[in-house]
Amino acid sequence: MPPIVAIVGRPNVGKSTLFNRLARDHRAITHDRPGITRDRLEATADLNGRFVTLVDTGGMDYEAEEEIARQIVVQAEMALTLADVVLFLVDGKAGRTSLDDDMAERLRRTGKPVVVAVNKVDGQERIAAMTSDFHAWGFPLFPLSAAHGHGLGEVVTALADLL
Ligand code: GDP
Ligand code: MG
Repeated sequence: MPPIVAIVGRPNVGKSTLFNRLARDHRAITHDRPGITRDRLEATADLNGRFVTLVDTGGMDYEAEEEIARQIVVQAEMALTLADVVLFLVDGKAGRTSLDDDMAERLRRTGKPVVVAVNKVDGQERIAAMTSDFHAWGFPLFPLSAAHGHGLGEVVTALADLL
């Protein structure tokens, strides 16, 4: 069994975008009903020659606050039970939220290795400003643009080094 890397994070931080970029095939997203996107949960990814099972724990994302809070619990539980390494994705445009803090605390308690990627850092000039909030957690942290692919190599290397 290849090691499991779980991508966790709030809805809309870019988990599926990153998952699709790292996944070996690109059949990840299927549309069940209008307005609802169901993402594929698992794919094989090549992290610098190490093959891993990549899990997008977001799967189905919800809009309602209580559903989001519940999702975070579920994702943290999945990370705890399944993952060898956790990729905690946050949104550098939105900044750090209390839900992010809750998740960081839950992830810390799992004792699993955690890498934080601050997504939506699309340009070089605002890296420091967009990432500064997230250093407080003390996890290794990398700026990323899943949409453009910037910073992907550094995140992949950080993950591969933990396997
Ligand atoms: P998920 O809910 O965490 O799976 O997030 P998605 O992958 O569905 O992305 C949510 C939104 O963020 C979409 O509109 C994406 O196009 C956008 N997004 C994802 N990555 C980036 C990025 O690197 N930069 C910017 N500006 N937008 C992004
Ligand atoms: Mg998603």
